[in-house]
Amino acid sequence: MTLDELKAAAESCGLKSFVGRQLAEWLYVKKVSSWDRMTNISKASKDLLAERFELGTSAPIGVAESSDGTRKYLFAVEGGAVEAVMIPDDDRRTLCVSSQAGCKMGCKFCMTGRQGWHGNLSAADIINQFISIDEAQDLTNTVFMGMGEPLDNYEAVSRAIRILTADWGFAWSPKRITVSSIGVIPTLRRFLDEEKCHLAISLHNPFPEERLQMMPVQKAYHLQDVIELIRQYDFSGQRRVSFEYTMFAGFNDDKVHADALIRLLKGIECRVNLIRFHKIPDFPYDTASDSSMEAFRDRLNNNGILCTIRSSRGEDILAACGMLAGKHSAA
Ligand code: SF4
Repeated sequence: MTLDELKAAAESCGLKSFVGRQLAEWLYVKKVSSWDRMTNISKASKDLLAERFELGTSAPIGVAESSDGTRKYLFAVEGGAVEAVMIPDDDRRTLCVSSQAGCKMGCKFCMTGRQGWHGNLSAADIINQFISIDEAQDLTNTVFMGMGEPLDNYEAVSRAIRILTADWGFAWSPKRITVSSIGVIPTLRRFLDEEKCHLAISLHNPFPEERLQMMPVQKAYHLQDVIELIRQYDFSGQRRVSFEYTMFAGFNDDKVHADALIRLLKGIECRVNLIRFHKIPDFPYDTASDSSMEAFRDRLNNNGILCTIRSSRGEDILAACGMLAGKHSAA
C-alpha cells in the first residue's frame, strides 16, 4: 500500500490517519513484518487493523546460488512461480525483479514468453521480492527485467516504484531503478511522463521485418514509433536510456545491422548493451561469436554510440532452470 492507502486503511478502522504514517515507517523503513514489532501502535489499534488487513511477507520457496555469487530466488504467486535474481558486483547488490507470472508478449528467444501469461503480480508481490530475500538490507539497485513485461502491468509496477522511491517508503533515488520494456507504447508514454527511473528498451534488431520474426510486439508497436517517442524525452541528465541487443549468430550480428542501429539511434544520448544469448531448446540460433560481438561493439563506438558487451552473470543457475535464459538479461 502507498502512504495514502495506509492512511485510508487506518481511518477505515476508526483510527487516526497518522497511524498510516506509522505503518509506513514500520513496513518500509524498519521493514518489519509482524504486528508485535510495531511498538508505537496500541494493541487495540493493531487488533482492529489485523481483522481487516493482511500483514507479512511471503518467503521464497527456493533459492539457487551461482558460483559467482548471484542468487536466484523463487516465489510462489497466484498463477505460478516467479523469480528474483540478486546480482552482486563489488559494492552493488542489484535485484532483478519479476512483474508478471509468465508473459503475453511471446518473444521467440524467451522461455518466459513460451510459458504464456498466468497473471499480473500485485505491487505487494513485487515489493515482497525486495523484502523477503537474505540481502534485503543490502540492495542498492533494481532492474525490472525478470519475468513479464513491466509496462504490461504498469499500475502495479508504478505503485511498487512509488513505494521504492517515496520518502515515506524505501526512499531510493529513481536513479537506482531501471525498467525494461519491449516498447508497449501507451504505457511507455505514461512511464516516461510519470516516472524518473531509467529505461532499457529490448531492441534486438533494427530491421522491422526481422524484429517481427522474434518479437510479435513489433506488429502492434513499431520500433520506429518507440524510438520516436523516446526522442521526445531528455536523456542527457539524470535519467538514462539504454537499448538491449541480444546477439544471435547469423541473424542480427552483421555490420548491416550495426549500421542500421547507428542510423536508428542517431542523436539519442544512450548506451547499447550487447548480450550473449543462452541457448534454449527448439530455437534455431546460437549466440554470436565473441569476435562478431566485438566488431559490432567497435562499429557502434566508432560511430558515436556508446556500446558495451554485457558480462553474463549467474549463468550456471539460470541455465539450470532455463526460465530467465535469453530474456531481457540481467544488468
Ligand atoms: Fe515477455 Fe520479456 Fe520474455 Fe519478451 S523477453 S516474452 S517481453 S518476458
